[in-house]
Amino acid sequence: MPHRTWRRCRRHCARYWRISVMREETDTAPLDLPADLTAVYPWQEDIWQQWQARCNTDAVPHAVLLSGDAGIGKAHLALSMAAHLLCSDREHAPCGQCPECRFLQAGTHADFHYLQPGGDSKWIRIDQIREVIDALNLTAQRGRYKVAILAPADSLNTAAANALLKTLEEPSADTVLFLVSARPARLPATIRSRCQQLALATPQRAAALAWLATQAESATLDAREREQLLDLAAGAPLRALALAREGGLAARVAAFEAFAGLARGKGISPVSVAAEWGKEGLDTALFWLYGWVHDLILLRQLGGDIAAPALRNRDLAGALQGLANPLDLKALHDWLGRIRGARRFVSSSVNAGTVVEDLLLDWVKVSAPHRR
Ligand SMILES: [Zn+2]
Repeated sequence: MPHRTWRRCRRHCARYWRISVMREETDTAPLDLPADLTAVYPWQEDIWQQWQARCNTDAVPHAVLLSGDAGIGKAHLALSMAAHLLCSDREHAPCGQCPECRFLQAGTHADFHYLQPGGDSKWIRIDQIREVIDALNLTAQRGRYKVAILAPADSLNTAAANALLKTLEEPSADTVLFLVSARPARLPATIRSRCQQLALATPQRAAALAWLATQAESATLDAREREQLLDLAAGAPLRALALAREGGLAARVAAFEAFAGLARGKGISPVSVAAEWGKEGLDTALFWLYGWVHDLILLRQLGGDIAAPALRNRDLAGALQGLANPLDLKALHDWLGRIRGARRFVSSSVNAGTVVEDLLLDWVKVSAPHRR
């Protein structure tokens, strides 16, 4: 199972979108782009109508910061908002039919720019920002607005953020920037304060489950499995769908057996488990570990309440409760910190298996009470 893929988005931008299906609390690139930019996800309908009404009164802000959990469709909403501005059919924008909509969907609209970290870098660099700023400073080539989306905006490096700030302080006419971020606190306060902030809520559980039931990849699952996926995705429906697409439930259950086996000293080697998980990709392995240790801590704190709503691995709750009992809470917290810290290697050239191996050796120590 590839942990990251590059997907060509022909309908919307003709660029390659980096799809990171299991990234924990970082990914704001579109996880799943509906074929139609004229529609938004059901849970975005209110905010979408407010945006349309606002555009019709010409009160369009120069910069909008869309924030919210990863996997709820922020980038897609930004694309639809951009399409609304660029469409030439003001009455039905975005119509999906006019030349502007067609150019946008073909990825050739001269007044639209999409910025994301380039190549293997995890940063949006200053040269990327400068290129777009130069283009935004020109007169619009096709219609009225010039639009840029930055996603994830918190991946701006310091120099790029400073360059962007100048543009935000002195915006050129009819330029609209959309900044998309699951971690807006990482943006400089000076940038945040110059944006209209649009905080998107994670959809209600019932709405997310209803949507998952209509998607091809998750409709074939039974209701209990869809609930599990949503738990694993911390309530974010697009992440849940990505998990369904990648067969995430089965791989995760197999990985958990190895995880529990390591704790119980069943002759399993952390080195061989790490090599196996490394093939799935570091962000997938960290996603699993983070979710399990999160639940182990929760179960220790709640005295083993396997019905706790915040549990992410509800299907494994019984097994996790059995694992949690003798473990030291501080050791678990320390280990969780190391798992979080290992995220810095996700986009690096460091071997995934090596990082996972270190964390599993930690787990062998943390779980030592099981073998006494
Ligand atoms: Zn149109």
